[in-house]
Amino acid sequence: MTPLRRPYLAGHGDDSYRVSHYDLAVQYRPDTARLSGRAVIAAVADRRLAEVPLDFAALRAERVRLDGAPARHLHRDGKLRVRPVRPVPAGTPFVVTVEYAGKPRPVRSLWGDIGWEELTDGALVASQPVGAPSWFPCNDRPADKATYRIAVTAPSRYTVVANGGLVSRRVAGGTTTWVYDQPVPMSTYLATVQIGRYVPVRLSKGPVPQEAAVPRRLVPQFSHDFGRQPAMVQAFTRLFGPYPFPDYRVVVVDDELDVPLEAHGLSMFGANHVDGHRGWERLVAHELAHQWFGNSLTVAEWRDIWLNEGFAKYAEWLWSQESGGEPASAHAARAWATVAALPQDLKVADPGVRRMFDDRVYQRGALTLHALRHTVGDTAFFGLLREWTRTYRDRTVRTEQFEAMAHRHANRPLDKLLRAWLHEHPLPPLPSR
Ligand SMILES: [Zn+2]
Repeated sequence: MTPLRRPYLAGHGDDSYRVSHYDLAVQYRPDTARLSGRAVIAAVADRRLAEVPLDFAALRAERVRLDGAPARHLHRDGKLRVRPVRPVPAGTPFVVTVEYAGKPRPVRSLWGDIGWEELTDGALVASQPVGAPSWFPCNDRPADKATYRIAVTAPSRYTVVANGGLVSRRVAGGTTTWVYDQPVPMSTYLATVQIGRYVPVRLSKGPVPQEAAVPRRLVPQFSHDFGRQPAMVQAFTRLFGPYPFPDYRVVVVDDELDVPLEAHGLSMFGANHVDGHRGWERLVAHELAHQWFGNSLTVAEWRDIWLNEGFAKYAEWLWSQESGGEPASAHAARAWATVAALPQDLKVADPGVRRMFDDRVYQRGALTLHALRHTVGDTAFFGLLREWTRTYRDRTVRTEQFEAMAHRHANRPLDKLLRAWLHEHPLPPLPSR
């Protein structure tokens, strides 16, 4: 039996209920940076609920309803607590409606400011791991996946991109309402809205349609830098299994970003990640790989973040090799030397909440996969990855599940290898053949 372990972000998200659908409608004006919205949240009680605790940061809840009737509520310290007249019995579906308004601000966190962020001319949302409550009330834990409808109204000169497929675009009095439907279950941190002065660029019509929204001035460089993305989708489909969603989109904002970021079915890059020389192609590969590892298969608990980042990092090395660059083994040797020179005080499968995004999680996570590949061979390794993405598609995952599946694909015992790479401090030697 697995011992009970405290979640990394205890107090964030709540396991007393599950959300099945978020229906979000927000109006945003970039010139005043004001947002007003309405969230209709359909959920089911897992336990008897004396209150429904929603994560909701700094916006003001103006009206709250439970199953259509006005509900008492208390909004304090990042929680909107909705109080039913009588407790909601376990197993009962219920609907919370919240109307809200204000100036959205990112959520302050151990990893910087996260969530809804104002751009020079527009806005973006990048919420990993705790930023979603900056723009809508939610049950903000990655294991609670739900479907979404996201309607965004903005001045008509802006392009709006959100998760899922665009189902309608209505113009009225100088504003346009963009409605996106997301039928694939998605974690709150991967929900996004992108608002900016963009032009559309089509990278591929199929089999995985790939579109982009890019500032006009960057289109020529972008077309070169992302020109090999369709080939990348093909290569990853062969190695990892079918691309998990109906399409893939990229947004390039007209501001600089520290790092590109993944959302469900799309990724966002800064203007600084487009240089006309494919200078950031490894990150194009990294964010694309997150669609399989992170977005389709999502960590149930942040402790297992290497299942996102180690895999996305390894995808960078695989793409390098696939595209005629350095082989993965050269990247692995370099990464091993880098990690070897750093303190050996981090466990990949339990890095600690402050070090979730430590570069060693990425590098050693990728090295773990490389070591595993060299131990079991290519056929077993990529067979494992494809079974992994097929079995847990649209679901949540844990390290133990990956280890159990790896054992089944190996023709030799892996306990020692996986324990040393994932659960112990010292950096193991890189297997060579
Ligand atoms: Zn990543």
